Amino acid sequence: MAARGEEVYGLAGGEPDIDTPEHIKAAAVAALADGRTKYTAAGGIPELREAIAAKLVADNNLEYDPSQICVTAGAKMACFNAILAIIEEGDEVIIPSPYWVSYPEMVRLAGGVPVVVETKESDGWKITAEQFEEAMTPATKMIILNSPSNPTGAVYTEEELRGLGEVALSEDIVILSDEIYEKLIYGESRHVSIASLSQELYDLTITVNGFSKAYAMTGWRLGYTAAPKPIAEAIGKIQSHTVSNATTFAQYAAVAALQGDQTFLTDLREEYDGRRQFVLARLKAIHNIRVVEPFGAFYFFVYTGELGLKSMNLCDKLLSRYRVAAIPGIAFGYDDGLRLSYCTTLDVLNEGLTRFEQFCREH
Ligand code: PMP
Repeated sequence: MAARGEEVYGLAGGEPDIDTPEHIKAAAVAALADGRTKYTAAGGIPELREAIAAKLVADNNLEYDPSQICVTAGAKMACFNAILAIIEEGDEVIIPSPYWVSYPEMVRLAGGVPVVVETKESDGWKITAEQFEEAMTPATKMIILNSPSNPTGAVYTEEELRGLGEVALSEDIVILSDEIYEKLIYGESRHVSIASLSQELYDLTITVNGFSKAYAMTGWRLGYTAAPKPIAEAIGKIQSHTVSNATTFAQYAAVAALQGDQTFLTDLREEYDGRRQFVLARLKAIHNIRVVEPFGAFYFFVYTGELGLKSMNLCDKLLSRYRVAAIPGIAFGYDDGLRLSYCTTLDVLNEGLTRFEQFCREH
């Protein structure tokens, strides 16, 4: 529709609407000029792995030797490397829904079985320790946690993570903790890395993070795993036989991202928080939908069960008749909702929400 010159109000985006900061781009240009165009060690250049190790200590209270870190082509590949390293044919992986779209497919590609546990709106779209325990079977090998969450923006508290951690420890269930939205967190909420809560949890957790969301580097394809030694070794082998290494000159840019000025992050967070509050107020005023206030990432997961349309149909109509693009909840394993993103200007948000309001009124 946009290509035909029609106005579309895009509330579907999954990446920051700012360009990569200049000092990060400059580091890649310098690396290219310097001839950093050849293979690196599979796990990444030493400077970057050291910079990541330092970041994990400073931000997350996590101590990893650089050899435990594997830099790869995006947090997406980092998740997949972690799943491939752990999951064998028939192993079950617990995935709370609404989930990030790729988790179940990655588990299937590894020969595993996704066990989807539907979280409740009344629990803030977060899996409880009881739900986790109930979903466990002798075949359970892993649980995937994603805080802050895509698509719900939910942020798990330390207490909630401790409760889930206890259940994982009771049967040695590996925890894949996807922390890609760590820096996008609002209000009183704070980010807690589950691996930092005890040595036992550290030994069971693979922490995933990356550069896409915090540093507006989605196109650079850079992410990483930090894992206990035996798991890190397995991940290193998978990486070496598949990806070889993340793009060499991009890795130099990632060093600049971690070691350079972080103040733009404060500005980004403030900007997004302003939009978040704007969208929250507008959505709360619509009587036949519901929304839980999200404290992280840049999404709202809207409950649309009262509109009488399943999510694909709903998003189709919203796009074709009201010119608003949103992501149907079914993509996240939940058919009575949709995801709206605020990675766009206030003007687009304002017009998009006016149209969404009208759509809800007319249904
Ligand atoms: N995990 C989650 C929860 C995400 O939303 C995304 C990006 N949409 C990723 C991982 C992948 O990020 P990357 O661009 O670093 O591969």
